[in-house]
Amino acid sequence: MKTGYLIDMDGVIYRENQLVPGAVDFVQALLNTATPFLFLTNNSAPTPEDLTVRLKHLGIHGLSARHFYTSALNTADFLSETDPGCTVFVLGEGGLLAALHERKIASDAIRPHYVVVGEGAPSMERLCKAHECLERGARLLATNPDNWCPVSSEKTRPGAGATAAFLEASTGRRAYYLGKPNGYMFHQARRKLAGLTLNEPEQVVMIGDTMETDIRGAFEAGMQAFLVLSGSTQFESVGDYVYQPTRIMQTVGDLIEEIRTGKPGDWSNGPDFAQPGSDAARSRLRHQTDVFAFHKPRPRPSMTK
Ligand SMILES: [Mg+2]
Repeated sequence: MKTGYLIDMDGVIYRENQLVPGAVDFVQALLNTATPFLFLTNNSAPTPEDLTVRLKHLGIHGLSARHFYTSALNTADFLSETDPGCTVFVLGEGGLLAALHERKIASDAIRPHYVVVGEGAPSMERLCKAHECLERGARLLATNPDNWCPVSSEKTRPGAGATAAFLEASTGRRAYYLGKPNGYMFHQARRKLAGLTLNEPEQVVMIGDTMETDIRGAFEAGMQAFLVLSGSTQFESVGDYVYQPTRIMQTVGDLIEEIRTGKPGDWSNGPDFAQPGSDAARSRLRHQTDVFAFHKPRPRPSMTK
């Protein structure tokens, strides 16, 4: 069966500025076998060209801008499809500004149709301006719902969801959140993936490290959802969610062989062999869980609402 892959980046391909083991060979296997794939990220700050350069510096070669679909591109697609000719006031970075510019969506700081919130650290002055635009009737749109994003294993930063929440609180208006897990992101990504190849993939697999965005969105879009444990999700917390991944792997390196050979792998070798939440899984992980709890007294809030 011809498979296409949608691949999250942070926690799947790299963490901080370190590649996840097996990531280089994984991408190489996709390129060598002409397997259709697209990197799918909620980070609206970089452009696809920025991401190509970033991965090149990390040691992943052979990629171009067409291999990336960001929440900024998703937002520009959404506005140009649903409201062509609209105007926007933007709180965001280069990737979002470039995507909107490419779709010929004009900026308007006086009476915009939308306030668009992406990644970044807006000044209080810009937040006040956005607040005023909303009070004058603009609608609130966020590129993605992530309240926080990992910076390192010890550090996070506020995400676009947190900025949108600020404006929701100050104006009483509710934001519409694009990006993962919104079905529009997955629908557009599937369409773009099909456009990369002559033969449309018969199945699409989403590979991600975050339950609330990658796994939930893939499940709701009717795709296979592969969870990797190289990022934000600990194995012992998987059972807390009502939606579940189709498969759990340590890293993307576990997929290299089956991409090279085209034969399905042995899923029973994965950490999901014992069901999360079962006694076997708990006893196997008790030590690890205890250590983890000791180092992390304050539970982190869920990444999205
Ligand atoms: Mg991630």
